[in-house]
Amino acid sequence: MSKMLCDVCHRLPAFYHRRFEGTRLCRMCFKKSVENKVRKTISEHQMLRRDDRVAVAVSGGKDSLTLLYVLRKIGSRFPDFKLKALTIDEGIKGYRDEAIKLAREFCGKMRVHQEVFSFKELFNLTLDEAVKKRNERHPCSLCGVLRRRAMEVGARKMEVNKLATAHNLDDELQTFFLNILHGEPLRIARNKPLMNGAGGLFIPKIKPFHQILEKEISLYAYISGIPFQEKPCPYAGSALRNDIRRFLDEMESRHPGLKYVAYSAVSKLKDAGELREGFTKCALCGEPSATNICSVCEITAQT
Ligand code: SF4
Ligand code: ZN
Repeated sequence: MSKMLCDVCHRLPAFYHRRFEGTRLCRMCFKKSVENKVRKTISEHQMLRRDDRVAVAVSGGKDSLTLLYVLRKIGSRFPDFKLKALTIDEGIKGYRDEAIKLAREFCGKMRVHQEVFSFKELFNLTLDEAVKKRNERHPCSLCGVLRRRAMEVGARKMEVNKLATAHNLDDELQTFFLNILHGEPLRIARNKPLMNGAGGLFIPKIKPFHQILEKEISLYAYISGIPFQEKPCPYAGSALRNDIRRFLDEMESRHPGLKYVAYSAVSKLKDAGELREGFTKCALCGEPSATNICSVCEITAQT
């Protein structure tokens, strides 16, 4: 049987079938298609300027290392564009150390300056300690609150003007369903691909991968020889997000293209809703907060 050729270059053998589009792509054309999509996302949402100083939140997982790789490639044409890597050490024994090592080595290879900020140093407790002391049933919610603050403080210390995170289309779709199942529909409008920082209170955040499927990022990382941590976080198993992921993956395999259609509907909701939140300063730590005492101080005071 003759090998199928790539539908784009018609020269090289196809290695990936993008089922929802009905196209077969060779390695090079697949890589280019992902990079072009990221470029398009960046320009559509005006995520970046040529003279931005951007910190990429790098965990050591495939998505974040791939984002660093792609942004470095895209940014290399602009001499005033500065890229750094920001890593958060939550303090998860037997898991985070390996990821940090991988992230450090990859940043060294990419010649990107990296800084690590730990929960222990910022909040005087590791995630493991907080989970144990509180007998926490939802470690991911706790981790999320502390990590958002750690990234904010870290980015400020690194003197960048934007923070890029590697949330992909699957993450965004899962978050949408999580918000619905947690009964928090207003959060849908808050979570945008470009968050402008509420008038200078926060560092603006961008999500250049928000229109890329997780499986295509894995493939891109594999073709590009990007080494990443495959071991899952020990707290991830019990998360509701995993059940939603399994459901969406099964739906996608039965109905190719379903994730794109669903995400495009979610994006319309995000665009339609503008959530205006009032911020005050937390009475304890002075960070911007929607309530008198911020969630970070509530957590650290209770542990
Ligand atoms: Fe934190 Fe949950 Fe992610 Fe583990 S899986 S790093 S606990 S958010
Ligand atoms: Zn506070």
